[in-house]
Amino acid sequence: MPKISPPPGTSDILPEEISAWHRLEDTARKIFQLYGYGEIRTPVFEYTEVFKRGIGNETEIVQKEMYTFKDKGGRSLTLRPEGTAGIMRSLMATDVMNGNEHRVYSLGPMFRGEKPAAGRRRQFHQIGVENVGRIAPELDAECIAMLMHYLEELDIVGNRLLINTRGTLEDRKPAEKVLRANFIKHISAMCEDCKNRLKRNVWRILDCKQPECQKVIKNSPPVVSCFGEKSRSFFNKVCETLSKLGISYEIEPKLVRGLDYYVHTVFEVVHPALGAQDALAGGGRYEIFLPGNKNPIIGVGFATGLERLLMTQECLKVIPSPPITPCVFLAGLGIEAINANMTLAMSLRRKGISTVAEVEEKSIKAQMRTANRLGVKLTIIRGETELKNRIATCKNMKTGEQKEIPSDKLDDSLRELLSPDLF
Ligand code: AMP
Repeated sequence: MPKISPPPGTSDILPEEISAWHRLEDTARKIFQLYGYGEIRTPVFEYTEVFKRGIGNETEIVQKEMYTFKDKGGRSLTLRPEGTAGIMRSLMATDVMNGNEHRVYSLGPMFRGEKPAAGRRRQFHQIGVENVGRIAPELDAECIAMLMHYLEELDIVGNRLLINTRGTLEDRKPAEKVLRANFIKHISAMCEDCKNRLKRNVWRILDCKQPECQKVIKNSPPVVSCFGEKSRSFFNKVCETLSKLGISYEIEPKLVRGLDYYVHTVFEVVHPALGAQDALAGGGRYEIFLPGNKNPIIGVGFATGLERLLMTQECLKVIPSPPITPCVFLAGLGIEAINANMTLAMSLRRKGISTVAEVEEKSIKAQMRTANRLGVKLTIIRGETELKNRIATCKNMKTGEQKEIPSDKLDDSLRELLSPDLF
């Protein structure tokens, strides 16, 4: 059969891979709940304006990477390239603008039209966290601590936490002036993108990975030196709180992150195992303006990419989660046994034992092949004789050992045979 691949930069997640994903998701739910966060789910598409206004029209994501389309009513919609703007759109309807704190997290796919590469997908999955409504440096530090706690629970060791400040919005202009004055001297030696960025958004130059630009960036003045006292003391407090919480960090003066909504703290967790796309997670404090609102919604948060978490776990040889397989297979010889097995399967499932029953007449050899393929622990075999004698043959698939069990004792025996896996 000809194979139809999914579109470039997307992939299927198959049943044999899903337990690794469940571990990431279940651990997120467990850890974030410990910090008082609740799950929120917003649509995978929003009005395009939500992202343009929310993320910033000048950002790389909005300029180049959004999947935007018109619906039948002529409205412009966009598949979400990140989670924060949509969540803020939703929280606007609450009391969040009155200084009340909301703690939410969200899991799901994001879409960016990037050039696919290792660790860079067009559909990828993020877990995002938002602490919305209040401003306090302690909240920034606690949010980062929660991310580090999460990574620790996933056995992801050897990562580096990089942190910096982008200052308040009032601090931006003087810092931009200093940056522009510096880069303009070297712009002829810099890449085409940076030439554009000099005019449109000078901060983005600091993010450029081109070697010729890196040389210039390395020698650029630290922007924090242009920031006022408010920005500096906020940042110091974040660092101080992180130290108190026992979180190691490195101050990275060139870290700005790609989104314009960041103010004050920005951070990234990188891992050397990831190669060129080495960011496992990133986030910061933000002020987001949404269409029709004069005041921004404020908060601090982060997002981590599930594909990159899995890649890191693989490199670190973290013991993989075992695949999810059914426990019991019911093999039936003859139509009566098959019917009896279907009823038995229902009663076992109601008792919490995952069961697959053969529903067609097949040879015992073919049925045992199915049992092996499914990876079950036990196979129960019944034919005419077994039904007549009210017994079942029970085969332990690991040891090959077979036992005859009276049908009315089947429940208790299964509990014993499957323990400690199940009960
Ligand atoms: P960002 O929303 O750009 O701050 O990214 C947050 C995290 O999402 C990154 O640290 C990555 O782990 C992940 N990520 C971002 N873009 C992609 C992508 N195109 N493919 C896979 N993972 C991504």
